[in-house]
Amino acid sequence: MNMNDHIDTQCLQASDAAHHLHPFADYSQKHQQISRVIVKGEDIYVWDSEGRRLLDGMAGLWCMNVGYGRKRIADAVHAQMTRLAYYNTFFHTTHPPAVELAAKLVEISPPQFNHVFFAGSGSEGNDTVVRLVRHYWAKQGHPERKIIISRHNAYHGSTMAGASLGGWPSMHQQGDLPLAGIVHIGQPSYLEGGRGKTPEQFGLEAASWLEHKILELGADKVAAFIGEPVQGAGGVIVPPPTYWPEIQRICGKYGVLLVADEVVTGFGRLGHWFGSTYFGIQPDLITFAKGVSSGYVPLGGVLVGDRIAHALMAKGGEFNHGFTYSGHPIGCVAALENIRIIEEENLVAQVRDDTGPYLKQRFEALAQHPLVGDAGAVGFLGGLNLVRHKGATVHDNVPFDRALEVGMLCRAHMFGSGVIVRTIPGDRLLISPPLTMTRAQIDEMIALITTGLDKTLAELKQRGWA
Ligand SMILES: *Cc1c(COP(=O)(O)O)cnc(C)c1O
Repeated sequence: MNMNDHIDTQCLQASDAAHHLHPFADYSQKHQQISRVIVKGEDIYVWDSEGRRLLDGMAGLWCMNVGYGRKRIADAVHAQMTRLAYYNTFFHTTHPPAVELAAKLVEISPPQFNHVFFAGSGSEGNDTVVRLVRHYWAKQGHPERKIIISRHNAYHGSTMAGASLGGWPSMHQQGDLPLAGIVHIGQPSYLEGGRGKTPEQFGLEAASWLEHKILELGADKVAAFIGEPVQGAGGVIVPPPTYWPEIQRICGKYGVLLVADEVVTGFGRLGHWFGSTYFGIQPDLITFAKGVSSGYVPLGGVLVGDRIAHALMAKGGEFNHGFTYSGHPIGCVAALENIRIIEEENLVAQVRDDTGPYLKQRFEALAQHPLVGDAGAVGFLGGLNLVRHKGATVHDNVPFDRALEVGMLCRAHMFGSGVIVRTIPGDRLLISPPLTMTRAQIDEMIALITTGLDKTLAELKQRGWA
């Protein structure tokens, strides 16, 4: 039977609960939740098995940049599968899709990038980063330079290296992480640490934590600093404008490699091909995944800047690293077609000049809602906080008791209203919609979110929580 033709929702849900262990889920009977079954996607919408249409304000999981249902990606994949479904790129072999995509990525990336290393995901890309920067320093005659500095509340994936680079205690607690030689400094969250300071002052202060850490460890021990230009899963945390240029200056001063994890911020999400350009920084490595193929086929990798690539070429010696699916031809053709769509539909400039500023204006106006303490957006990323009382400044807002899980309640009301958003602990609500969204669709999304907020407020009042 083709499950897509005739869907028995309860049967699927029962089988899912019986056999499928979901990522980031609690497997106890008590906490197991019935899964919503998603069966179809078109443009910015998905449909569940009951036929309900949902506006996807999260672009899948931060990845569906060109929207669902792109037949031309399916056609490109079909043609490649029939021609050459798989071949590896080990042992000095290659194939046209990998060659073509590497050249294309070099073309659209900042000028210091002329080489690409392919992986299957963002996590694998960051594993590659860890090995590559340590290999680089060893080749430079400084094998002791291996510490990588990351940030609390960063998200860099879920492999051992990815979770170690990441800054979530909940992930470090499991699996004896972080790996040796990975340390963390504070995140540039103005909301968290900026009380009594201007954002500009706070941005410089948060960057200075990197310098303090480098001096504490000894610059001759530090290999690299890694950060998401805008933290995604950690809560769409937009650093003050002074932060990244100061980080760049500090890395330059001590010779520390700068790595931008652009798995979320790449491929147009901030109105530039890469978020590094938005913040005016020149990283040595860029991790990419998600938007490179808009999630149609898994693909990730690392853009390798000239400083590292040229040094490795000059020194020689094998880099003993790679994946069976590095440069998988199906992922590469999907990415190529995806990038063609982004180019032909002018999505990067559209987000930068038109729909991005419009989304910012509409999303930030949600701060007028009685339940919203503050709302901020950059490009096609947004985040807002649900609060019990609004104070004179964002630092004086009064949150809800965490145990009430108001964010989860709100997320359910968003689903009920027909829009998918993400909520994270601390009652923070995030969006990361497809880049194809028009102004009319932005209006539609904001209206649905407003309905969801109204319903949440009504329930909170009914329960006596607000
Ligand atoms: C999603 C994500 C990753 C991990 O990518 P996977 O494809 O899930 O392994 C890494 N970094 C950032 C910033 C991400 O958002």
